[in-house]
Amino acid sequence: MVISVASGKGGTGKTTVATNLALSLKEDVLFLDCDVEEPNAHIFLKPDFQETRIIGIPVPEVDKSICTYCGKCGQICQYSAIVVIKKNVLTFPELCHGCGGCSLVCPEDAISDKDREMGVVEKGLAGEMEFIHGRLRIGEAMSPPLIRAVKKHINGEKTTIIDAPPGTSCPVIEAVKGSDFTLLVTEPTPFGLNDLVLAVGMIRTLKIPFGVVINRSDVGDKGVIEYCNQENIPVLMEIKTERTIAEAYSKGIPIIEIMPEYKQRFQSLFARIERKIVQPLRHQGTTKEY
Ligand code: SF4
Ligand code: SF4
Repeated sequence: MVISVASGKGGTGKTTVATNLALSLKEDVLFLDCDVEEPNAHIFLKPDFQETRIIGIPVPEVDKSICTYCGKCGQICQYSAIVVIKKNVLTFPELCHGCGGCSLVCPEDAISDKDREMGVVEKGLAGEMEFIHGRLRIGEAMSPPLIRAVKKHINGEKTTIIDAPPGTSCPVIEAVKGSDFTLLVTEPTPFGLNDLVLAVGMIRTLKIPFGVVINRSDVGDKGVIEYCNQENIPVLMEIKTERTIAEAYSKGIPIIEIMPEYKQRFQSLFARIERKIVQPLRHQGTTKEY
């Protein structure tokens, strides 16, 4: 089972939910931090890293001695990562998605691949839990290939928890797609609601069963809860504002370590998710909840 934890905006408590959920489970857990631009789950899970792998993508290198400047490579590139101007071919590796299209269409075989480093994948153990995260190279704009490299470790044998990047753009889609369930973590404020609506639109498009966790549920207004009721979106857990939680967070301590009663609450959350994963089959053909 693969459960991704996402949020329309940063700072809602997504990593808090993902890490505490993972720590509360009785079964074997694989934790993937796919928030590769700013991975921080390791601060709470404190893995002992045992392996680091550099991840690169193939970008084109043009042999100008055989190039005829026909322009075919530039025409096929959707990202303007290779451009032919008069008697010159310019490449922009930072825009290249590594699709290989340009070398396929080159009639002269003038394009070869060279690897561009995107970041690293680090693997380790946090107690019994297998922990893997990606770290995007500073200045690198494209995170999806690195997220894919992290997700390659999903093996179907362990319950997998994915900490997705915040937002609703390509990196989040890459992180959550294929999940059996997505938890959307939000807060009860107008900003939280605005971003939740966007995240719900994204998850519904991907047809992933989902539910909401409201963090700091006792502050703000009723907008999020009213929206969830209106849209038949299950609110699976509410976490109230507690000074102890905030203090623990600032020290990198998981909630369940300082408030063990939360372990039971996260186990209940998991049990509710398990039930929700079965529901879409029953609701097939309706758009009521998913
Ligand atoms: S397709 Fe090949 S031959 Fe044509 S401009 Fe590009 S690199 Fe040169
Ligand atoms: S590999 Fe793909 S994205 Fe990169 S330059 Fe070639 S066509 Fe463009």
